[in-house]
Amino acid sequence: MQHSLQVVQCWDDGVTTDGPLIEILQRYGAKATFNLNIGLHQKFRHAGWTYHNTQVQRFGISELQDVYAGFCIANHSFSHPHLEHLRSSDLFYEIHEGRDRLQQLFGQPIEGFAYPFGSHTSQLRQQVRQAGHIYARTTQMTSQPFPPEDPMAFHPTCHFLDPDFHQCYEQAKASGVFYFWGHSYEMTTSSMWEDFERKIRMISEDAASSWKDVVDLFALPNSSHVQSSCP
Ligand SMILES: [Zn+2]
Repeated sequence: MQHSLQVVQCWDDGVTTDGPLIEILQRYGAKATFNLNIGLHQKFRHAGWTYHNTQVQRFGISELQDVYAGFCIANHSFSHPHLEHLRSSDLFYEIHEGRDRLQQLFGQPIEGFAYPFGSHTSQLRQQVRQAGHIYARTTQMTSQPFPPEDPMAFHPTCHFLDPDFHQCYEQAKASGVFYFWGHSYEMTTSSMWEDFERKIRMISEDAASSWKDVVDLFALPNSSHVQSSCP
C-alpha cells in the first residue's frame, strides 16, 4: 500500500529555533506550515521569554522571507492575544491585519489559521472563516483529524512531544491523515532534537506516508481551493 497516510505538521510563533528545525525538515524533504504573528516581529531579533531556562527569540522581520522560503505560512493572529477576550473591532484587526500583512510579506495566499492558545468560540470561528481562511487549528487532540466536522475547529492528531506519538502515527493509518504540531522552542536539549530528527526521518522513509501541506488537505474536487498555493 503506497502513500495511504497523508502527514502534515505545523509550528507556531515564528521563533529562531525554527531555523534548525527547517534544516532537519529540508534534509528529509518534509513539508510544514508555520503559524506566524506578524505584529510581533521587530526589525531585529529580540529576546522574548524564557522557556525551561532557555531564552526564546522571534526572528527579525527582515529574516522571515529567507528563513521560511519554500514552506507554507499561516496566520496565528496579529499579536497573539486571547482573541476570545477582545472587543469586535480589535478582533477584526487581529484576524484581518495578521492575514493581510503575511500575504504582503510572503506573496502567498494565507489560507490557514491557528488560534492563539488554542482557544476558540463560535463567534471566533465565524470571523476567521469570513476573513478568508479555509481551516483553523485548535490544540485539542483527536484520533480522526480529517475531515474535520468544522474546518474552523480543525484538531490535530497529537503534539510532537506526545509520549504516544508513534502509536498515534500508526493508528492514524486507519484514518488517512496524521497531523502533529508544536513549538520548536520546546526542544531544549540535544537529545530532544535528535529524537525529533528520528521522527522526521522515520516518516520520510515510510513508504506508506507522504508529506502534505495542511492547506492541501482541503484541495478537494469541486472545492474553490486550488492545490499548491504554498511554495
Ligand atoms: Zn502561539
